[in-house]
Amino acid sequence: MIELNEQEKRLAAKIKRLKESSGSHSPSIFTIAQKLPELQIKVDACFLSNPYATELFLNYLKKDLIDSGKLRDVLEFYPSQNSVIADVIAQYLNIDAENIFIGNGAIEIIQAVLHNFVGKKLIVNIPTFSSYYEFVRADTQVLYFQLLKEKQYALDIERYIKFVKDSKADSIVIINPNNPDGGYINYENLRYILTELKHLSNIILDESFIHFAYENKQYDLVQTEQLFKEFPNLIIIKSMSKDFGIAGIRSGYGIMSKDKVASLLHNGYLWNSSGLSEYFFRLYVQKYFLQEYEKIRKKYISQTQVFYNNLSKIQAIKVYPSMSNFALVELLDKSTSADFVTKMLVKYGIYTRTCNDKIGLDGEFVRIASRTYEENEIISNAMKDLFL
Ligand SMILES: *Cc1c(COP(=O)(O)O)cnc(C)c1O
Repeated sequence: MIELNEQEKRLAAKIKRLKESSGSHSPSIFTIAQKLPELQIKVDACFLSNPYATELFLNYLKKDLIDSGKLRDVLEFYPSQNSVIADVIAQYLNIDAENIFIGNGAIEIIQAVLHNFVGKKLIVNIPTFSSYYEFVRADTQVLYFQLLKEKQYALDIERYIKFVKDSKADSIVIINPNNPDGGYINYENLRYILTELKHLSNIILDESFIHFAYENKQYDLVQTEQLFKEFPNLIIIKSMSKDFGIAGIRSGYGIMSKDKVASLLHNGYLWNSSGLSEYFFRLYVQKYFLQEYEKIRKKYISQTQVFYNNLSKIQAIKVYPSMSNFALVELLDKSTSADFVTKMLVKYGIYTRTCNDKIGLDGEFVRIASRTYEENEIISNAMKDLFL
C-alpha cells in the first residue's frame, strides 16, 4: 500500500483522535470537515444512501414547498398525528392503518420495540448494525448468532433455525439485506424461516436496505409487507433514510400487530414526526413520484453492480457478495482497516468506514458505499492507485 508523507501523517493522527472520541457510529462528514478544515473531502463513501433519490426529493421539495411559499406552514404548525400519517401510507402498502406505526427515523421504532415488546432473550446475528444490541433493556439478554466467514457471512438457514429453537429466545432480529455485509435472504427462504419460527413472540425484520435488493433481471422491488398478514409475530421496520437519501428528515415506519401499535400510541408517540417527514410520506404515495423514483432506483442498482465489479478486480482486497448499496471489503495485504480509511481520506479525499468496531468480523474489513457513477469512478480509481 502507498505510504503517507510527513504532512499527511500529521493529518492522519488528528483523524485517529476524532474517530476514537465518537463511539460506535463513525463521525459524520460534517464533524470531520469542521474539525479538520485542511482536509479536502471529495466523496463520502461512508454514508449509505442513494444520492439520486436525494436529488429527486429536493426537486419536489423546492417546487412544492419553497417556490410555493408553503414551507412556512410545514415549519410553523404541528405535523399530523401518528395515526393520520399511518393512514396516508396504509393504502399504498395495502396494510391497515392500525398496523402501521410512524417513527422519527427507524431508530425510534427499534428503540420502542426493544423496550416494549422484546422479552428476556433476543437473538442478533453478527456482524450487524449495533443498535440492536446496544439499546436493549437491562433485563434482556442478547444471544449472538455468528454468521460465518467461510459462508461469506450469508445466513445458514437450517443452522439458524436450530439455534433459535434451542435457545428458548422470545425474539429475533433479521436485517435484510444485512448491514455491514449486504447478505440477502430471498423471499422464499424468508417465508420458510417465518414458517419455522411461528412460536416466537417477535420476529423483527429490518428492511432498511430492501430497495437495493432484487430477485429478477428487471430489479423489481421485493415486497414482503403481505407476509405480515400470515405471520402476526412479524414486526417489519423500514427506514426511509437510505433508499430515499433523506436521513436528515427522520422518516421511518413499522408494520406490527394492532395491539402493539395501539400500546405504543398509548405511550405518548403522538407527534413524533416532523412537518418535512409528513410532506415526504404524502409525496411517497403519489404515482408520479414513485414512477420517477423507480427509474433512479434501478439506475442506481445497475451502476452499483458496475462499481462492485470494478472493485473486485483489485487483487489486494476481497469484495463480499452484496445485495445492498454498500460492499464489505476485506484487506488481504496485511494492512489495517484504520490505515486504509486514513489513507483514503488523506490522499484522495474519500471517506470510508472501518469495521474494526463491529463484533463478529474476523480480519481487516472496511465498508464502502456506492455513490453516483462519477464518485464511484473516483473511489475505484483511488483504490487501484492505493494498492498499486
Ligand atoms: C441506518 C439504519 C437504521 C436507522 O435508520 P433511521 O431511519 O435513519 O433511523 C436502521 N436499521 C439499519 C439496519 C440501518 O442501517
